[in-house]
Amino acid sequence: MPIQAQYLGMSLGLDDLERENLAYFKYCNEHDFHLQACTDCTLLRYPPTTACPWCMGREAKWVPVEGKGTVHSYTEVHHAIQPAFKGHTPYMVLLVDLDRQLGMPSEHEALRVVGNLTTPDGKFAPPEMVRRVGIETRVRMVFTDVAPGLALPQWTIDEDAKQPDKPWRYPQE
Ligand SMILES: [Zn+2]
Repeated sequence: MPIQAQYLGMSLGLDDLERENLAYFKYCNEHDFHLQACTDCTLLRYPPTTACPWCMGREAKWVPVEGKGTVHSYTEVHHAIQPAFKGHTPYMVLLVDLDRQLGMPSEHEALRVVGNLTTPDGKFAPPEMVRRVGIETRVRMVFTDVAPGLALPQWTIDEDAKQPDKPWRYPQE
């Protein structure tokens, strides 16, 4: 089943040929995070693809992955490039190192999953929450329901995790 949805003034679509992405978002729609594990070398990969980036194996199975990690880097957007995002500024785009498979297959690698910073119920984070987050903040995955059949994985502060005393942020004030 193809997916078509409107999100903040943008048309999002996946057609029938995008089998890996359709499978990935089917799990997301159930607020469940799964990644492909290579049948040959067992490594997980992100984003979903047709072949393993490590060994080129074509076979993979979907496995549940805990959506917990650490902010690797971020962008804080103050000037929206889409009119519908204007009411949400400042908002954050986070690049998060998942705990699972951290430092594999080499020490500098990780499964790095992109998402916005949101409240626990998947709404854009308010400014006071944005100011608390930087590199090394511990986050957990939540989902934003966009349309019937489509939910986006996002990130929120993991309130149960030990946080860095002062996460690294661009000097702004
Ligand atoms: Zn492989």
